[in-house]
Amino acid sequence: MRKSRQNYHCSFCGKDKSEALLLIAGIEGHICEACVEQAGQIVQEELYGNKQEGGKKEKSKSGAGFSVVKPQEIKAYLDQYIIGQDDAKKVLSVAVYNHYKRLGQPRKDDVDIEKSNILFVGQTGTGKTLLAKTIAKFLNVPFAIVDATVFTEAGYVGEDVESILSRLLQVCNYDVAAAERGIVYLDEIDKIARKSDNPSITRDVSGEGVQQALLKMLEGTDVNVPPQGGRKHPEQKLVKVNTENILFICGGAFEGIDKIIARRMNNQVIGFKADDYVRVDSDNMLQYINHQDVKHYGLIPELVGRLPVLAYLNPLDQETLRRILLEPKNSLIRQYERLFEIEGIQLSFEPDAIEFIAEKALEFAFGARGLRSICEAIMTDAMFELPSQNEVRHLHITRAYAAEKLSRSNLGKLRAKAA
Ligand code: ADP
Repeated sequence: MRKSRQNYHCSFCGKDKSEALLLIAGIEGHICEACVEQAGQIVQEELYGNKQEGGKKEKSKSGAGFSVVKPQEIKAYLDQYIIGQDDAKKVLSVAVYNHYKRLGQPRKDDVDIEKSNILFVGQTGTGKTLLAKTIAKFLNVPFAIVDATVFTEAGYVGEDVESILSRLLQVCNYDVAAAERGIVYLDEIDKIARKSDNPSITRDVSGEGVQQALLKMLEGTDVNVPPQGGRKHPEQKLVKVNTENILFICGGAFEGIDKIIARRMNNQVIGFKADDYVRVDSDNMLQYINHQDVKHYGLIPELVGRLPVLAYLNPLDQETLRRILLEPKNSLIRQYERLFEIEGIQLSFEPDAIEFIAEKALEFAFGARGLRSICEAIMTDAMFELPSQNEVRHLHITRAYAAEKLSRSNLGKLRAKAA
């Protein structure tokens, strides 16, 4: 007997054939036109990153269905967490905006927008990782930090570059679709620079070999990833991850690159007419960096080509360090205030004490990373003693208190010895 037509219904919403305009048959059931449309919207949101934090969605009027937050709004978000580094924040905002515009681009477009992988150059502790982490948080996408120094060329002791993607898979609980639109921060990329200008002298397994291995991944390809990371074993089941929509942000201090920049600029200045002469700020040569300098440093041209967006981070001066202590949404000072507040103690800092911490961080030259260790050295005694002293309800940190605690701490003693 033929199956009655009345039995056909949408397997998703249950709508009967008579109520639907269209029912599309699948192997197991049917789907109506309304559910197809709804599913399309879900795919658009899930795959093209329209799920910004706090529901900050905005539809762009231009482009077919493309919807992503504008560069200025991205930068305003970054401003809440990262002090200074305006150029890097601007470049990052535009790169991320273009990246998601590219994802929203119809597959068959005659203009193929290339990936905007990013290279951050700046001293340690100036906010490179923080920028990458903050943008991932803003976009609500999986984020992994990987150190480039752990990799070696396939076949040598060390990790295969594919394990970069293992980390990304791990942070999103092996959700391949989520990992495929994540962000990877590849730290210490300068440490895999070619050791010598002549690539053929000896085998350079941890430098050029690793750079070569990274090329395809950065550009966008299917990669077979060992789910637990490390080395690929023949018996291990591999997970296929496509990297076309993964944004790679590479970072490094590129120590000594300022000399390369200065040399290039000197050569350029020769031959300029006198009135074309531009005053060069020799204290911060990084601001003049270009891709050529990075190549000279030892990144192979193919890799440099796959990192088209280049941004520099300024060294942090005392004033910026002071602002970092106070201004970010989750600044260190706010964190300490909260820790004491939970204890029922009101904590306050004399402005001069804050200045002292910034001064010492600059002196210790750890970038903003030093702020945390200095604060810990100053605050540990109070955090140890006050919870047992019920009568203390107020703690005011003066410059003298901070100086005394720091000088007694291991950090202070160590510095005093080194000086
Ligand atoms: P890098 O990756 O450049 O070595 P990080 O981004 O890891 O440095 O910075 C180290 C710490 O210093 C971060 O956790 C952050 O708290 C702080 N920090 C560094 N730069 C800034 C900045 N510009 N604004 C706010 N905090 C900063």
